[in-house]
Amino acid sequence: MTTARTSQPGKVWLIGAGPGDPELLTLTAIRVMATCDVWMVDDLVGPEIVAMAGPGTRVIHVGKRGGCRSTPQDFILRLMARYARQGRTVARLKGGDPFVFGRGGEELAWLAEQGIVAEAVGGLTAGLSVGPALGLPLTHRGVARGVALVTAHTMDGSRPDWQALAASGLTVVFYMGMSDVARLQEELLCAGFAASLPVAVVQRVSCPDQRSAVTTLAQLPDTVVREGLASPAVVVLGEAVAHAQPAASVAQAVSSCVRAA
Ligand code: SAH
Repeated sequence: MTTARTSQPGKVWLIGAGPGDPELLTLTAIRVMATCDVWMVDDLVGPEIVAMAGPGTRVIHVGKRGGCRSTPQDFILRLMARYARQGRTVARLKGGDPFVFGRGGEELAWLAEQGIVAEAVGGLTAGLSVGPALGLPLTHRGVARGVALVTAHTMDGSRPDWQALAASGLTVVFYMGMSDVARLQEELLCAGFAASLPVAVVQRVSCPDQRSAVTTLAQLPDTVVREGLASPAVVVLGEAVAHAQPAASVAQAVSSCVRAA
């Protein structure tokens, strides 16, 4: 039976859900999510965010983790298109920002080719949320001239220009680097990054089970093994890491200032 839905064109929203903490969703994301009747949810989207779905919302998990095999990308695309053609409003919820290692560009282009109306809502990317999470000033003045978000893992095995990055004076934030930190360390040392450079590894940033360790590039693989750190995690490399002020020490500093006053 044809329903009233088919008379109106549907739409796909690519929505960045941030790194996990629902408090880090944008107001736009919350408003748009509430208008969507189908949510297609990536595995990096926190469960508390998924729990915000209203009772009539169809929630489809299309993630790679949790013991399930990865849902093939073309299946996800076709499913989005099918719901949109049925007149539904689809939220494609992605961890972090859809345009930072999130396939947002390719998905928008594919939807446009299909003649499906689509729009994106930005989110806070994991690599930048380590700043507030660890009190880590990614572009600390006089220490780091900027920040680079790079992938440590590509499908075709290509690499960023490590030597250029080593010479750049930028804080480097690596995504998808946990599958082989020993190889990453070796490549970075060969490219000229100093073994003594401080490194932070931050797992599940902003989530209740966030864990992190601060070490040096020389000690990176040993620290990851010793601390049992695993994906999803970002690796932050650069002198700025030495200036991190985790919340406890900030709170301590504030309370000692208050006492001194
Ligand atoms: N679009 C996402 C990135 C997806 S790629 C974003 O903007 O954040 C997947 C990689 O992102 C993971 O391998 C990990 O390096 C990083 N990542 C995503 N969520 C994370 C989180 N909550 N904590 C730490 N790293 C995270």
